[in-house]
Amino acid sequence: MKLPTQKTKIVCTIGPASRSHTILKRMIQSGMSVARVNMAHGDLDTQKENIRRIRSAATRLNRPVSILMDLPGPKIRIGKLHNEGLILRKGSRLTLTTRDVPGTTSLLPVQYPDFPRSVYKRGIVYLNDGFIQLRVQDISDDDVICKVIVGGSLFSHKGLNLPKSKLAPDPVTEKDLELLSFGLEQRVDIFGLSFVEKAEDIVKVKEFAQKKGKSIRVVAKIERAEAVRNIDGILEVADAIMIARGDLGVQVPMQDVPMIQKKLIRKANLQGRPVITATQMLESMVDNVRPTRAEATDVANAILDGTDAVMLSEETAIGKYPVETVKTMSRIAVSVERQRGLIHLSSDVEEYFRRGDGRKRISVEDVVSLNVVDALRALRIRFVLIPTLGGSTPRRVSRFKPDCWVLAFCHSEAMCRFLTLSYGVLPVLLSEKVDNWHNQMLLYMRDSRLAKVGDKVVLAEGISIGQFDGADSMRIAAVN
Ligand code: PGA
Ligand code: MN
Repeated sequence: MKLPTQKTKIVCTIGPASRSHTILKRMIQSGMSVARVNMAHGDLDTQKENIRRIRSAATRLNRPVSILMDLPGPKIRIGKLHNEGLILRKGSRLTLTTRDVPGTTSLLPVQYPDFPRSVYKRGIVYLNDGFIQLRVQDISDDDVICKVIVGGSLFSHKGLNLPKSKLAPDPVTEKDLELLSFGLEQRVDIFGLSFVEKAEDIVKVKEFAQKKGKSIRVVAKIERAEAVRNIDGILEVADAIMIARGDLGVQVPMQDVPMIQKKLIRKANLQGRPVITATQMLESMVDNVRPTRAEATDVANAILDGTDAVMLSEETAIGKYPVETVKTMSRIAVSVERQRGLIHLSSDVEEYFRRGDGRKRISVEDVVSLNVVDALRALRIRFVLIPTLGGSTPRRVSRFKPDCWVLAFCHSEAMCRFLTLSYGVLPVLLSEKVDNWHNQMLLYMRDSRLAKVGDKVVLAEGISIGQFDGADSMRIAAVN
């Protein structure tokens, strides 16, 4: 058994640039642990084939790789253009219409029937992540007449944002539920939910899956101002969050994104919920073989903020250098992880539980997780072994970003796959019929050659509770 190169998890969006078997394999070897299929693009057959290929590459390499199916939510998009790369000029007039017409510089189809009811006069319409801006001048039943205030070039099906819409669309659309059913058929177990507004949105999709007899894990994509406000409730029901900086940077003032990122990561860390930082992380690598210094620093800073995972979108979906981009991300992660102790960055999360407000409602599991990191540091131990059902104890340790690997021994493949999102966690599947977890875990360490006989490891287990979740004890053992 070989340890991964970096503890930070890398999520890669799969698209035309990365769907070949060779590229998928090389991306996994370079550090991808989660493959994201973005249902906003590609037809069902293509995505089905992508899922098959991802699984086949992971099986062949014998690596735990999970599939994150991203549901598009009510993202408003423009329709198909007559000519690609259409240039919109500042000052020109442009009619946005709900009618199905080929897009030109004067008439642009919008795929959202309520569009004219969602805008108001003099309001701003953003196209293509805000690169193009239009001002609303007149509104009729089907049409919205605008003036271009910031021009640019435009391609088919680009996104449209209305940060201050009069009519906020429901985050969970009929289409999302259809796609979710498709995902369930494909046995995908992590779903991304776009434009989440509140906790109930997540409950709604979970209940929908439950009615079909399935239990799913949901990543709430935080990309609306409401979601930032409702983050505490969302963190209670979501299995993970994504800081979706693309849409977030249009929905809230751009300059607020950096601090939102830091605050959300901290909150997720305190709750022991995995958090993904997403969008434009190495954007310039879509076309170039090296990133900008600012991008490299952005990846490093997200890791220092305490993110569990970093995500690549266009870089791996349509970029020229998908494998090189994953390698670059991995190298940055390794460098930061090696030196993070110098700056004591997770100490804030630790401080919260050791001396801060977390002290007031600290749980048995929180205390055990603090003891575990103390032992790891004091004795320079490299592995902590935790049997787990729901993954909560491994994540409680992982949130402190100790310089060690957290081996999470799971009964179920679904749990194993979900833990591919958590920083420094190495999921291991053990067969269900294990009488003595304790010995089994130590044996695994020896047989996998991760540790030698005599090496010390930390074990965190639920002994008195008699269950595999909620550790109430910690011991230090030697591999024998
Ligand atoms: P998207 O989500 O790529 O599905 O839009 C991420 C983001 O908005 O940043
Ligand atoms: Mn988005």
